[in-house]
Amino acid sequence: MKYNEHFNDMTENYLFAEVADRVAKYSKANPDKKVLKLGIGDVTLPLAPAVIEALHDGVEDMSRAETFKGYGPYEGYDFLREAVQGYYRKAGVELALDEIFISDGAKSDLGNILDIFSKDNTVLIPDPVYPVYVDTNVMAGRKVIYASANEANGFLPMPDFKVDADIIYICSPNNPTGAAYTKEQLKVWVDYASKKGAVILYDAAYECFIKDQDVLARSIFQIPGARTCAIEFCSLSKIAGFTGTRCGYTVIPMDLKKGEFVANRMWLRRQSTKYNGVPYIVQKGAAAVFTDEGMAQIKANLAVYQKNADIIARCMDRLGIWYTGGKNSPYIWLKCPDGMGSWEFFDFLLNEIQVVGTPGAGFGKNGEGFFRLTAFGSPATTEEAVERMEKLLKK
Ligand SMILES: *Cc1c(COP(=O)(O)O)cnc(C)c1O
Repeated sequence: MKYNEHFNDMTENYLFAEVADRVAKYSKANPDKKVLKLGIGDVTLPLAPAVIEALHDGVEDMSRAETFKGYGPYEGYDFLREAVQGYYRKAGVELALDEIFISDGAKSDLGNILDIFSKDNTVLIPDPVYPVYVDTNVMAGRKVIYASANEANGFLPMPDFKVDADIIYICSPNNPTGAAYTKEQLKVWVDYASKKGAVILYDAAYECFIKDQDVLARSIFQIPGARTCAIEFCSLSKIAGFTGTRCGYTVIPMDLKKGEFVANRMWLRRQSTKYNGVPYIVQKGAAAVFTDEGMAQIKANLAVYQKNADIIARCMDRLGIWYTGGKNSPYIWLKCPDGMGSWEFFDFLLNEIQVVGTPGAGFGKNGEGFFRLTAFGSPATTEEAVERMEKLLKK
């Protein structure tokens, strides 16, 4: 027996453990100080009432023989796939029902999709990045190359046609940088992928935060040519607070194929082999998100986060601090003032004003010197943290 040696190639991710550790140490030494956390990447508002009602209905269905559900379809119930189809239609994207797969979230699908691709692929991943893309590929022993996201390109790297890649990850609006590609920029990526015969794995987890819908894309499938070179991953985690309830969806167009290989059919084969679907009750709740009533309630929740993001972004504007995100994203990715390093700035904020964020260095080497603040806290916490930052950092 041999273990997978590629586990040795993965770097230990100390980021959130280290953040928690430093905060705990500080709080222990300074029990009277109130620490404000703007570091969390998790939602805080409860599920919308329409979702709760639908979840209850689902439970009731399970209590009666006539409406009880056992194993469901691997790809999700039609009622939810139709709801997702309608959501895309509103964004101007037509999808066939069998192009939509329901799952327990985007993270699992982003990792699991690699089952349908050969190990002999070169993977192009932006740096800094959501760690899942790198780790799932390293675990499988794939070669990873990086696209440099930095201040000069606004943390939105564009393809280098001289570089060959087979699998390309794009997350827009981005975690951790909050930066979002324009439709024009995404068209260049689609052209690049088409030319190389590559596939784009597009993470749309934050599409619901996009306000500038004319300029920015909510879906890669709003871009001409994407149906032959892209797979989209999305989730109800951020739009509807499903981080603990678990539901997402993946879109694989029938046009994504090469020779005898049809990505959509391979994914169905993969899912039917290794997966038995999302609980019926959860899918009932998820479908309520896409009703008019559910959407209106969810938009009210999103507006709270959007306002928090705006409050943080305005503070950075007043302080003259360079940043990305804020407007079309719950993240503000700022350049640490006075040339401070990410962890140096972390300690400075914690010690001086008890505000906690996330050091950019934890998301990749290009994150050094940058810092992530999130809009998922309460409005009161956000406003107090901003006041403290303004006092501390004003020149
Ligand atoms: C939160 C998040 C997701 C959603 O993951 P789930 O597994 O659906 O909760 C996907 N991608 C990124 C970049 C995220 O930050």
